[in-house]
Amino acid sequence: MKNETKCLHSGYTPENGAPRVMPIYQSTTFRFNSSNAIGDVFNDPTKAHIYTRFTNPTVDVVEKKIADLEGGVAAMCTTSGQMASLMSILNLCSAGDSFVSSSSIYGGTVNLFAQTMKKFGIECIFVDVDSTEEEIIKAIKPNTKAVFGETLTNPSMQVLDIEKFANAAHKCKIPLIVDNTFPTPILCRPIEWGADIVIHSTSKYMDGHALQVGGVIVDSGKFDFTNGKFPEFTEPDESYHGTIYTKDYAFAPYIIKARMQLMRDFGAYPAGHSGFLLNIGLETLALRMQKYCENAKKVAEFLVTTGKFDEVGYPALKENKYHKLAQKYLPNGCSGVMSLTVKGGKEQAVKFIDGLKLASNEVHVADIRTCILHPASSTHRQLTDKQLSDCGINPGMVRLSVGLENIDDIIADIENSLKNL
Ligand SMILES: *Cc1c(COP(=O)(O)O)cnc(C)c1O
Repeated sequence: MKNETKCLHSGYTPENGAPRVMPIYQSTTFRFNSSNAIGDVFNDPTKAHIYTRFTNPTVDVVEKKIADLEGGVAAMCTTSGQMASLMSILNLCSAGDSFVSSSSIYGGTVNLFAQTMKKFGIECIFVDVDSTEEEIIKAIKPNTKAVFGETLTNPSMQVLDIEKFANAAHKCKIPLIVDNTFPTPILCRPIEWGADIVIHSTSKYMDGHALQVGGVIVDSGKFDFTNGKFPEFTEPDESYHGTIYTKDYAFAPYIIKARMQLMRDFGAYPAGHSGFLLNIGLETLALRMQKYCENAKKVAEFLVTTGKFDEVGYPALKENKYHKLAQKYLPNGCSGVMSLTVKGGKEQAVKFIDGLKLASNEVHVADIRTCILHPASSTHRQLTDKQLSDCGINPGMVRLSVGLENIDDIIADIENSLKNL
């Protein structure tokens, strides 16, 4: 099936007389006929739902749908994108290990990786997104267990060369994790380019309507965890009655391990109602992505003609530094987000934002409504100047997220505000 069809039908096929739409299973727990029956499910938690700290029937439908859209074998939802990033690493790294990450990643992820991970005894080694394959390999140490990158960076809109990062990781026998939040599987499927694990903040385009924060981790099922570098996958898990993930759950050892260890212990799992809302967003994802791209391209082309910007950072534009990579990885568009560098620095950037009436100034992005933000004074406020420039942010940068309003109204709003600059 194609994307549009998967968005509507994957994950749930009602049986004779069953509700057409997957109902909300808003229940912490599930009743069984006997202790033996519960014991059986503890033996193999893929058989039934036990407790909403780690599985739920409504969320399960969403997980299956997202796994199918990404071309993976299984997925696990989390209560935020941050939690998806954290668990994607903790499932591979313990204290004393390290992982390599592109420095062009979301600001919240930079904090998590550079500061909080350090407290766990896990080192993040940052490399430039434009590093050569050799440079990435050079950064990988014997204790390095993963490579991480972001397909289309929030907010600087740099494009990750997924194949290059995958090749470097695979030469060192470690998996590549890709944060695919902005493109969504509608615009790019990183697994097809060699990524082993894909994560998302579902708070963005997947939910689409700014209703709820969430995340997801998708397992491609392709990485060989029996290569000798990952004993936690190949030796009995004492915390789970001796389960050997690569043997007992060979179809998706990564996601089953994440669920049985991390989700069991941390419990950062969405409720049934959250799964239900996320599913509504996913149903129109393919259609919406097409329209975001169409509107954003028109806005970007207009902005270039105004002469008020040092840079209109939108990789779908021919003059963009990442245009070639965008043509390869994002041939159907680069989402609704763009990074704008307003002439005159921070003062003019703030004036531009405050002069907008339709676009709202808020800490959100990739929404159905047009929104805008000044990253250096908000989402990326905690970063040092060096970290800011490493992830491609300057003081005059504005992140614009073009929504689904009529294009004439969006452009008129921008035109009006630009008059003040
Ligand atoms: C927003 C975002 C995150 C964090 O997601 P939350 O759902 O806000 O926790 C991670 N990665 C990217 C690319 C994002 O845009």
